[in-house]
Amino acid sequence: MSRQATDDIVVTHPDRVLYPELGVTKLDVAEYYRAVMAWFLPGVRRRPTSILRFPDGIGEQGFFQKHPMRGMSHVSHVRLREESGKWADYLCPSDASSVIGLVQFGAIEFHPWAAQADSLDEPDYLVFDLDPGKGVNWRDIVEAARLFKRRLGEVDLKSFVRTSGGKGLHVVVPLHASCTWSDAKRFVQAFARALADEQPDRFIAKAAMDERGGRIFIDYLRNSRGATSVASYSLRARAGATVATPLRWADLGKAQGPGDFDIRTVPRRLARLRSDPWEGFATLRQGLERALQTYGEPED
Ligand code: ATP
Ligand code: MN
Repeated sequence: MSRQATDDIVVTHPDRVLYPELGVTKLDVAEYYRAVMAWFLPGVRRRPTSILRFPDGIGEQGFFQKHPMRGMSHVSHVRLREESGKWADYLCPSDASSVIGLVQFGAIEFHPWAAQADSLDEPDYLVFDLDPGKGVNWRDIVEAARLFKRRLGEVDLKSFVRTSGGKGLHVVVPLHASCTWSDAKRFVQAFARALADEQPDRFIAKAAMDERGGRIFIDYLRNSRGATSVASYSLRARAGATVATPLRWADLGKAQGPGDFDIRTVPRRLARLRSDPWEGFATLRQGLERALQTYGEPED
């Protein structure tokens, strides 16, 4: 599990402070990604991946970037057809050098597509993003994720959980290679709406911010071609230098909150782990047939 990441990237301005409250520097960020590379890379490799760059630290303006730019010679890219029909180059990390090469450009967060470069029309996982509204506490979010696990299990879908590194949890469902975006979208929408209809005091499946109070927003909209979610083991550009961290379901109850997992604790945690908290994720091939029989009546 401690495979050394090799890259030959020189990180310039290593002492530049990217997290002012913690004094975490650009070199610390590069060292973090080097330390977790064997765990992080499978989540972004060969996937179009947007980066969130903060060249002057998270206290200053940051920006999302999906296209390669001049100087990114260590970073692979893929040419793909956008929904509009236009062709464009997308960042698409292939190895440790790609990742550290992007850190050199100030990347802190990595947000991949749920599809690989050689099969962009076939999502290989689904993401349900559970976002707490005002007044919803961590325990409520944990209970909600467990409910998702149970209900997904009822339609033969095994799921995995991670902290987003922000406020919430992501429930992730691996798929086999011949699922379509259209089936994925049909299922996640019907599933999210069904739970929100059943338990309207607890869940909302509409994005309207002002209606969320006290409820958990089920964001299912990440499951479409071109949409992204944060990668497992990505740092977040938030106070605390938190990390999007895969957990075993059995360990979810031990977590006090997303703040447990950060740039310092995650490498230590990985060094101690005997097995992957998401054991089997990469090889599990699940179809949506059963899921669509129960959820997925054609809708708007
Ligand atoms: P939280 O737990 O705080 O909700 P999160 O990772 O679930 O964390 P955000 O970081 O708010 O949520 O990301 C929202 C979604 O929008 C993600 O799918 C992310 O990949 C995407 N995203 C974030 N910033 C941008 C941007 N500037 N442009 C396009 N997509 C973005
Ligand atoms: Mn979220």
